[in-house]
Amino acid sequence: MAKMIVYKFGGASVKDAQALKNLAEILRNRLRKNMIIVVSAMGKTTNALETILDLKFSEKDYSLNSTKLKEFHVQICQDLFPKEHRVFPVLDNYFLALGKKLESPLTKDNYDEFYDSIIGYGELISSSIVMEYLCEVGMITLWKDAREFIKTNSDYRFAKINWEKTRIGCRYQLLPVLESYPIVTQGFIGSDDHGKPTTLGREGSDFTAAILATSLDAVSVTIWKDVPGVLNADPKKFENTVLFEELGYKEAAEMTYYGASVIHPKTIKPLANSKIPLFVKSFLNPESQGTKIYTQESQQSIPSFIIKENQLLVSFKVTDFTFIEEGHIHKVYEELKTLKLRVNMLQISAISISLVMDFQTFKLEKLLESLNPFFEIRYNEGLELLTILHPQEVILENFMEEFEILLEQSTRNTIQMVRRKR
Ligand code: ASP
Ligand code: MG
Repeated sequence: MAKMIVYKFGGASVKDAQALKNLAEILRNRLRKNMIIVVSAMGKTTNALETILDLKFSEKDYSLNSTKLKEFHVQICQDLFPKEHRVFPVLDNYFLALGKKLESPLTKDNYDEFYDSIIGYGELISSSIVMEYLCEVGMITLWKDAREFIKTNSDYRFAKINWEKTRIGCRYQLLPVLESYPIVTQGFIGSDDHGKPTTLGREGSDFTAAILATSLDAVSVTIWKDVPGVLNADPKKFENTVLFEELGYKEAAEMTYYGASVIHPKTIKPLANSKIPLFVKSFLNPESQGTKIYTQESQQSIPSFIIKENQLLVSFKVTDFTFIEEGHIHKVYEELKTLKLRVNMLQISAISISLVMDFQTFKLEKLLESLNPFFEIRYNEGLELLTILHPQEVILENFMEEFEILLEQSTRNTIQMVRRKR
């Protein structure tokens, strides 16, 4: 049997008609049987759907937003297809179904479930347009609904994969088809045991590509991005970035953990376990080599710079002239666990515990409320967390100049600082 490969195209690679033409050009010489193409929603569609949900939740009028979202997709199709093409009624149907779904009641209690039944329309629509367009330009592909084989639990918005069921579903439903045709499907979405739609967390399409690759024993995954590959820093924030031609799974996982947004953090582990190489390539320059992530023993020595924005620094100080001990740490961590908050950096001194986390208004309030009786709590918002991996030859002053440093921590291989622009 021919070797299976998985391609993933993110939102930016399908953001307009031109991008879709480019996608088709990339596939022109690469498309083959035993290939799955995973696509995200077009451009900023997922954000637009989130806005619609917010408006609906606060009982405001969202009709203009849905009209605009439909027009955005219709416009792309008008640029790509002849007038009477069947993609137009397909679009009409999706927006009808979406509109209808939006009319059902939304409360605090069903918010996450409701969210998942709405938000996946971005991917459903986008993948349908991609499939239709590829067929239109002579590349026959089949469309599959990922909710039929990506099986999850019912943790809506952050659903966990049922690997066993997913593997069986993929093998029964996809393998036979893939022997004759490439498949186009959606990233990010799945369904639970009740058949209800679920999602894997924002930006989860990369993860879908990895899930499909492991379930189908693929030989590689390629993620097509608007950057040349994995760089040692975000080129939008740093000058003179360096491209990694190769990277070990561990290095790559570490970078995503600290906030490198080039690949979704959950993508690496399943691929590493199955030893499937991951290629990160530029859709703007498809012939260039990009980055290959795979088993690699030798350690990187080039420093990487990773910034996490919108961080919150909270410190819990003991007030009764005692010192910080296990009980205090336990109390704080129990609360973090209940609120499902992840700590990006932790520092403990004699009298205080300091935590750095992604800012979430709602949860901050709850955290303060429950720990207020035990500690004197202070917090700062609007910070950024800079992590430098392999900082050996880095001149640190350069990173402090325009910033006030609120917290700093270093180990042999990492330096982290929480900072605020002066
Ligand atoms: N469209 C989804 C999002 O924007 C999933 C993805 O892009 O990977 O979060
Ligand atoms: Mg996206």
